[in-house]
Amino acid sequence: MTDTELARADVLALRDGPIPRHLLPDSAATGPHGQLLVGGVDVTELAAELGTPLFVYDEDHLRDRCREAVATFGEGVAYAAKAFLCLEMARLAHSEGLHLDVATGGELHVALAAGVPADRLVLHGNNKSVDEIDEALAAGVGRLVVDNFAEVDRIERLVEAGRARPRVLVRVTPGVEAHTHEYTSTGQDDSKFGFNVANGDASAALARLGASSRVDVVGIHAHIGSQVFRVDSFERALEVLVAFAAPLDLPELSIGGGLGVAYVEGEWAPTIAQWGASLTNVARALGLRARLSAEPGRSLVASAAVTVYTVGAIKEIPGVRTYAAVDGGFGDNPRPVLYGSDYTTFAPAALDAARPRRVRVVGKHCESGDILVRDAPVPADLAVGDLLATPVTGAYGLTMGSNYNKVLRPPAVFVSGGEARVVVRRETYADLTARDLLQPGLAPSGRSPSGAVGSRPVRPGP
Ligand SMILES: *Cc1c(COP(=O)(O)O)cnc(C)c1O
Repeated sequence: MTDTELARADVLALRDGPIPRHLLPDSAATGPHGQLLVGGVDVTELAAELGTPLFVYDEDHLRDRCREAVATFGEGVAYAAKAFLCLEMARLAHSEGLHLDVATGGELHVALAAGVPADRLVLHGNNKSVDEIDEALAAGVGRLVVDNFAEVDRIERLVEAGRARPRVLVRVTPGVEAHTHEYTSTGQDDSKFGFNVANGDASAALARLGASSRVDVVGIHAHIGSQVFRVDSFERALEVLVAFAAPLDLPELSIGGGLGVAYVEGEWAPTIAQWGASLTNVARALGLRARLSAEPGRSLVASAAVTVYTVGAIKEIPGVRTYAAVDGGFGDNPRPVLYGSDYTTFAPAALDAARPRRVRVVGKHCESGDILVRDAPVPADLAVGDLLATPVTGAYGLTMGSNYNKVLRPPAVFVSGGEARVVVRRETYADLTARDLLQPGLAPSGRSPSGAVGSRPVRPGP
């Protein structure tokens, strides 16, 4: 049994105590009234001022992890922006020396709007449209990671039509198991991503791209999955990649992202530095000559943030369980619903309180599946109106969420040095109808003579 595989019973026992500090942002501290401080800011006051739900990001923690990635992998290491992307985050990652991975035209747009130079961007995606590729080429994106043959056709046509010849990496699937959730495994043979090494597609792609005058092939890329704890999975991938890439003698080899993070009591993950050191050692032992690079997302941002909610209802069902309903839900954290991911909880007003009580933390969406934490440890006196927080919500929360039920998407705040600044404001009711188009000419009551709403009266049938 390893550290990451503590028995479930042990994990649950660990939950009776106070929230472990390694699950909190680096700067988390206990304030004079026992409350959570992050970046020197009282999180309970912040919640009173800005309302809940609220994502609170420790800015120094974000910067520290970015620096660790650059120190570990050097020039060329990229932040996988999909984990958490807004203008300030793009700017922060860029200012710390990272390149940015973008996977769609939308992510490309945000990175460019943040002022990140196009040559610091890498365009990913398993189904890039002609428009997306054209936007990237027009902007002068540093690298395109080619995923499939149809995309090769699209790039070649755009270059024939006058776009500058791009530098490309070829995404391959090394056929290794990442030992993570099926939906976040991407490096196995049965994958929608990349060119398969085992069946010869990767070699065929390299042969075609290598012979093309319309692209400049600079490297090989693989990404085996996300929330991967086992460094040996990355090492197996590296062995396949080095064996595949050696005869090509290309300057770059990217191992992708995917390093796991601890979400709950009893979990520990390798640091970015440890992950990088093991990869570098394996690469050296295998005689890799190319520059080894990586694209961490989650491991840079996940534990930098906590989400703060307010408990709006507590429902005790004797002999069954107790539900605590909060003012967010899968709209701000879809991971429990998507992957069965586990989270933990604590009360920001009493950071060091024991958590002997178990409740199921649910959201406010109209779905029984809207569960945030199945067996949440909470203080014995948790009551309606209390703040309740989930740690390690900095990755794939805000970016993967939705506004289902027209629940307003929460704001994100960066805190540092005793100061807080909102980097994404809360969604407003006006935002909710900003894209809706209403047929003109109807009375404000919205009822046309036939009783149909917002459409032409339908003639009754014969
Ligand atoms: C999602 C993704 C990453 C980042 O994954 P994390 O698990 O967040 O580190 C890196 N590269 C590619 C190609 C990805 O799709």
